Amino acid sequence: VKALPDAATGRSGAVLLIRNIGELCTCAPGLPRAGAVPRAALVAVEGAVVWCGPGADLPGEMERRATTVIDAGGGCVIPGFVDAHTHLVSGGSRAAEFEARREGVSYEEMARRGGGIASTVRATAAASDEELLVAAAGRAAAALATGTTTLEVKTGYGLEVDGELRLLGLIEQLRGRVAQELVATLLPLHALPSGRDRDAHVHAVISHELPAARGRAEFCDVFCDRGAFSTDECERVLRAAAGLGFGLKLHGEQLDHTGAAMLAARLGAVSVDHLEHAHRDDAAALASAGTVGVLLPGANLSLGGVRPDARMMLAAGMELALATDSNPGTSQTTDMRLMVALGVGLFGLTPAESVVAATRGGAAALRRRDRGTLGAGKRCDLVILECETHVDLAYRLGGVRIARTLVGGVQRHP
Ligand SMILES: [Zn+2]
Repeated sequence: VKALPDAATGRSGAVLLIRNIGELCTCAPGLPRAGAVPRAALVAVEGAVVWCGPGADLPGEMERRATTVIDAGGGCVIPGFVDAHTHLVSGGSRAAEFEARREGVSYEEMARRGGGIASTVRATAAASDEELLVAAAGRAAAALATGTTTLEVKTGYGLEVDGELRLLGLIEQLRGRVAQELVATLLPLHALPSGRDRDAHVHAVISHELPAARGRAEFCDVFCDRGAFSTDECERVLRAAAGLGFGLKLHGEQLDHTGAAMLAARLGAVSVDHLEHAHRDDAAALASAGTVGVLLPGANLSLGGVRPDARMMLAAGMELALATDSNPGTSQTTDMRLMVALGVGLFGLTPAESVVAATRGGAAALRRRDRGTLGAGKRCDLVILECETHVDLAYRLGGVRIARTLVGGVQRHP
């Protein structure tokens, strides 16, 4: 346990005490029911948790030294949500396309009509930097209000090298306007620019885009699926990205079974996301590679069709994350409470598995082991919920109110 700051030395370190927690879900590994501790308390110093446990065991010195005391009012406390998959920076709305799909037009037919990703690419190119920043900051604020304390943000709607680097610059500027830490991911293979030769595009990504983005994005992602990019094309880009120090991610096995999961396992990718069509063999390979499976119930609900077999993946030993896939085409939400509810309702997770996937799982999918759980030494990123237990998140279909969101020990919402 980190020592409390000594008043005699004049160090200012604020000591935060959260007491009267009805249920504290630590989400620490190997514990049942998301590590739930009833009638708990938590102490943080300088943005990091130093102690948490049953309120009756709270050391008297910590209580005396507290400079800020928050009464959780008997509410449930969970780690802040880590949303490991978003396309937060984008222009335009695709509500009309959503309506057309509901009237029977397929996602791929929509793409042939100039809708889909291409329509967001056009709207993004037409929008000013300031318009895109205001829209993205608004989405991040909405995410904060619903308990998200870390956000991954992808490029992808720039499509061409210049457009992609513009989006990367916007993600960098966005950091100054939001409360959360943003983790930047370059998504160079999202859709083929119209009329472009496939090989020439892949070559431009490898020779220009990746080197220019080196050190500015932590991860490199590709859309490896039917109608997008082949496993061969993705492998070429991902191998080049790995050589430049990017962590690897794939959108894979969403629309069809293509071998994307096996490719992810072979390359030691940090995560493979979607996984609707993943088989048992894929899950076994991903589990042994330590590749996190990021499940995206918003997109699955919006597009319909096959659901990922989450129970099979857990049985194979995979670590799972839940994320919003926040994007204008297939999941226009930033609400992780809803993802927890859908993880249970659509994918068959238990409430505890779903909460863990939305917190610790998301942190694993971003290689952020300092968060996603609550315990000594972890970041004090947490949410105080207006409900008695984590089960309510699923039971009330995501409708649980957020009393407070803390990022790094500082209350940022409301
Ligand atoms: Zn996505």
